[in-house]
Amino acid sequence: MLSIFPKFYKNFLCKADKCKHSCCKGWEIDIDEETAGKYLAMTGELGAEIRQNIGKNEDSYFFKLTEDERCPFLQKNGLCKIILNIGEENICEICTMHPRFFTMIDDVELCGVGLSCEKTCELLLGDEKDLVFYIEDTEEELSFSEVLAVIGLNLPNEMQEFSLAVNAENINKVLEIMAKTEPIDENWSKELSIMQDMDNVELKAKEYLENSDKNILNKIYKYILYRQLERLVDIDIEALINYAQYSILFIILHTMISKELGESVRRWSEQIEYDTDNVDLILAGV
Ligand code: SF4
Repeated sequence: MLSIFPKFYKNFLCKADKCKHSCCKGWEIDIDEETAGKYLAMTGELGAEIRQNIGKNEDSYFFKLTEDERCPFLQKNGLCKIILNIGEENICEICTMHPRFFTMIDDVELCGVGLSCEKTCELLLGDEKDLVFYIEDTEEELSFSEVLAVIGLNLPNEMQEFSLAVNAENINKVLEIMAKTEPIDENWSKELSIMQDMDNVELKAKEYLENSDKNILNKIYKYILYRQLERLVDIDIEALINYAQYSILFIILHTMISKELGESVRRWSEQIEYDTDNVDLILAGV
């Protein structure tokens, strides 16, 4: 098996208490069987506190979120109480792995860190001019084209870049599809309304594009595509290309309200990439 990672993966380190968007907020966290067993058997005050704060559904145990949708063990200072008390080796699988992802295409593993994470966005948008990958346990670096070649895909250069026309038709189309996705929070719907009501949106989006760094937009485009390549078993490449093209258009529109490209990428990702129904909606709709 060959494992491929983006080069920036080597620099990934969770920002913990320095993160404005802790991933322990807003998402239900399932606890794997082994860790749940550990928690159920744990003695002492922390064991009792953990058991009070976990629930069980048909499939698994999970942390009961607080009223403001935070993990009950996420402290005000942004640090995890379980890690602080009994160490990282005692947190559940999801918390250990997040925001890493591992996808398989035959015997090739495409790995990375998800864009819903603030640190990932900083690294992706960082200094490197292009998105570079490496093969695990080797010094070998690969361009995006070479990664595609490893999985047997030969994609013309123009399909490896953001090239969708920024016009009213495409803007309306992407906003309409996004409006059908399940909102991650109340703010998402508000942000969408602001985008829908924006004056001269086509003109502003064109201006934004003209003044933006195309290398950065293309890095984001390639990384969005990279994460979904495993879907090629059930969808065709054109659908995947459209998914990435319209996602970049949406990120451009969102940046016009957030004024921060990294934040808009992160926001798009947590809304879309972390909900397979939403990914499917976009794949089918564009
Ligand atoms: S979003 Fe990323 S940087 Fe922030 S707490 Fe989660 S893993 Fe760490």
